[in-house]
Amino acid sequence: VPMSSSASGSSAPVPAGLPDPEAGARVVADDRAHLFHSWAAQGAVNPMPVAGGEGRYFWDYEGRRYLDFSSQFINLNIGHAHPKVVAAIKDQADRICMIASTFANDRRGEAARLIAEIAPGDLNRVFFTNGGAEANEHAVRMARIHTGRPKVLSAYRSYHGGTATAISLTGDPRRWANENSGSASGNVAHFFGPYLYRSHFHATTEAEECERALAHLEQVITFEGPSTIAAIVLETVVGTAGILVPPPGYLAGVRELCDRYGILYIADEVMSGFGRTGAWFAVDHWGVTPDLITFAKGVNSGYVPLGGVILSDAVHDTFRDVAYPGGLTYSGHPLACAAAVGTITAMREEGVNENAARVGAEIIGPGLREIADRHPSVGEVRGLGVFWAVELVRDRETREMLVPYAAGGELARPVDEVVAACKEGGMWPVYNYNRIHVVPPCTITDDEAREGLAILDQALYAADKYVG
Ligand code: PLP
Repeated sequence: VPMSSSASGSSAPVPAGLPDPEAGARVVADDRAHLFHSWAAQGAVNPMPVAGGEGRYFWDYEGRRYLDFSSQFINLNIGHAHPKVVAAIKDQADRICMIASTFANDRRGEAARLIAEIAPGDLNRVFFTNGGAEANEHAVRMARIHTGRPKVLSAYRSYHGGTATAISLTGDPRRWANENSGSASGNVAHFFGPYLYRSHFHATTEAEECERALAHLEQVITFEGPSTIAAIVLETVVGTAGILVPPPGYLAGVRELCDRYGILYIADEVMSGFGRTGAWFAVDHWGVTPDLITFAKGVNSGYVPLGGVILSDAVHDTFRDVAYPGGLTYSGHPLACAAAVGTITAMREEGVNENAARVGAEIIGPGLREIADRHPSVGEVRGLGVFWAVELVRDRETREMLVPYAAGGELARPVDEVVAACKEGGMWPVYNYNRIHVVPPCTITDDEAREGLAILDQALYAADKYVG
């Protein structure tokens, strides 16, 4: 991207052709007149018009640059506008843009092969979808048919997507709010996963939390009836609901319970997969092999919508002679698969996973712990790789969450203030409830990580004033 310096108010140079506020206003006008937005009161939507992005930055039509600590819904593991991925998409577009999934296509097969190569154990087959929710829909369908059992268990504090089964799996009542939408599916039960900071099991150590969470899960299995349960669906590291890293032994314990009761283990790696934790899949950190893995996002950094299910040989063999009752028009779309091949290849060549692991261990983790020492509003920081949460509290002793509350007749919104201060400082974070999530691209440099943390550090003074 050609850069020219301009008086944008930002110290960094801005892309050529900017600022162009009139163009920005037109972009917003079309959006507000004709777009219907996800998870939003439509009247409250106020989107920032984005003109472009490169690497770890994107910019608006005013020419203001933002360090992307959101990775755009945790998609851009390889960053914005990676030249090798863009070239792979262009090359595919020149050759053929669409060929139905009944045909074999070079990039489609190559993407499946690369994914099978990096997946653990005998997870050798890939069913492509358009995103994460569909991946979970199909993984559950496969598990139900494979086991001949109807029920699925998933954790409270989870996000598995916005479609019928996926939203039912999602362990977050705020997402189930509209009973009239009729979108929930049945035969889903929930359990509590480990979360030591707010332990449901009165645990004080990781070992206790792990042991008690597994005992609780076994109780739920027993009370639901093991012979009725097809699968347990679990985010390996819980993402949207708090970046909860499982204690050592938990995932192995889940695997063991699944084996004992003939239940399939579905690892939802939609957010945690493809480098986010510093490994191809987060399960790799604990050496656990699920029966099915669902993925999306990082598989091609979201350049073209793509998700999927990776199947073990045993689950695959269920459908060797019996047709799988399901499919999607765009399964294995050539442009999306070309983007996946370009992404995975570039990640291998450039050591992107290693970078994420190192920056997390050497810069982001220590940096956030130092920030926590300085700010009384920080209750806990946790994460690994480039997958971190800063949990904000009103009181470190009681761990009361720092969520919006009535303060002398006015509604105080501390997290909103922190987010606004981050943006003001030139960094775009993710936030959810009482947490700021620090989720930059896996390609982030040491200096960029330090820059973002310094902005967050300053922004957190906005939260500190609500402490006590
Ligand atoms: N599963 C997890 C763990 C996710 O984080 C998400 C999205 O954030 C989904 C599933 C749903 O993916 P999609 O929005 O692509 O349907």
